[in-house]
Amino acid sequence: MNPDIIIAGGGIGGAAAGYFLSRHFRVLLLEQESMAGYHASGRSASIFTANYGSDIVSALARSSRAFLDAPPPDFVSTPLLGPLGVVTVCGPGQEDLFADALRLARARVPDLQHAGAAFACTRLPFLRPERIADSFFEPGAADIDTDALHQGYLRGIAAAGGRVAFDARIVAVGRSGGAWRVRTAKGMQAEAPLFVNAAGPWADMVAGLAGLAPLGLEPRRRTAILVALPAAVEARALPMVTLADDTLYARPSGGALMASPADATPSPPCDAQPEEYDVAVAIDRLSQVTTLKPERVLRKWAGLRTFHPDGNPVLGEDAGAPGFFWLAGQGGAGIKTSPALGMLLASAVRREAPPPILAGIDGAALAPRR
Ligand SMILES: Cc1cc2nc3c(=O)[nH]c(=O)nc-3n(C[C@H](O)[C@H](O)[C@H](O)COP(=O)(O)OP(=O)(O)OC[C@H]3O[C@@H](n4cnc5c(N)ncnc54)[C@H](O)[C@@H]3O)c2cc1C
Repeated sequence: MNPDIIIAGGGIGGAAAGYFLSRHFRVLLLEQESMAGYHASGRSASIFTANYGSDIVSALARSSRAFLDAPPPDFVSTPLLGPLGVVTVCGPGQEDLFADALRLARARVPDLQHAGAAFACTRLPFLRPERIADSFFEPGAADIDTDALHQGYLRGIAAAGGRVAFDARIVAVGRSGGAWRVRTAKGMQAEAPLFVNAAGPWADMVAGLAGLAPLGLEPRRRTAILVALPAAVEARALPMVTLADDTLYARPSGGALMASPADATPSPPCDAQPEEYDVAVAIDRLSQVTTLKPERVLRKWAGLRTFHPDGNPVLGEDAGAPGFFWLAGQGGAGIKTSPALGMLLASAVRREAPPPILAGIDGAALAPRR
């Protein structure tokens, strides 16, 4: 094929970028692994909440909601969002921290409910009542069918005449004659006037292949475990619960409970694996706030969440390299913000104003060399 644009990375970021770009350009997406979602995008908690991250991240999530609620008819055959809700709880002595968290959440979630301790303990019957002093509830927080979303994006690229290639690790990127030329480890060569760096934790390394300075992106490892629930607890009726001090969150997953100690350990880009210490911390914290006996871990995993030093995603053309665009640094919000980021990137590449739903997003705050 003779692509207009080459995308490095087939995680949710590269897939969403490819989906929205493929309406206007012939897209070639190159992914180093043999499947989509092998790294962060297949290891997330799959939660949609408007009450997460910086104000820009929250705005990107809210702007993504319309797409997630009602994607185009040919995108998926099942809903992308399922009911969940998030209860944020604090313990005795954490009233000040809770008041700050509540103020911020109210500014972002119009239907937020200040719900109290009893509400939390009723909805999550395994919480230890003596450890819960107060709670607030975000009823619209939802479970994302991440796999369906990811596959929908990739199918859309192919349907528009683009190509997604797996086992295609880019090892060389250069520019000559107004084109970006890439070579993969297996010898595939391609060139296009436009290039998108959506390589997740490897984004700074891919930029380095093109001779560009790194942005200082930092991958941070986050651990998750899956533990069994008592037979009397109906998993499907549970909301997610998160501690206001950001030391633990848990959500129903299948018939079990996924929990994370909310760790954020700096890591080089790699196939992240869970450390026993972080698994033990998750079990310990779960034991402290719940009556669950989580010694038997059904599954454990880790993934890398990649951050720009200021915590906002990176999106736009590199000031020093015409036609080289970035979509990286989505941190812990890359699934729920993927529609907005994909649309924004397509607007940036086309040098057009973003669609009205994204008009409030300050593009300068996302610029790579900001
Ligand atoms: C435990 C955990 C919980 C999370 N929970 C949530 C959540 O609830 N909600 C939410 O919205 N987000 C969540 N996230 C964050 C979310 O998963 C990430 O923000 C998102 O997946 C980032 O997508 P990405 O495409 O940038 O990265 P990745 O999924 O890492 O994709 C980057 C891709 O680039 C490929 N690549 C790299 N270098 C090359 C190369 N040279 N050539 C070709 N391909 C290359 C890699 O193989 C990889 O597939 C969570 C993350 C973790 C780890």
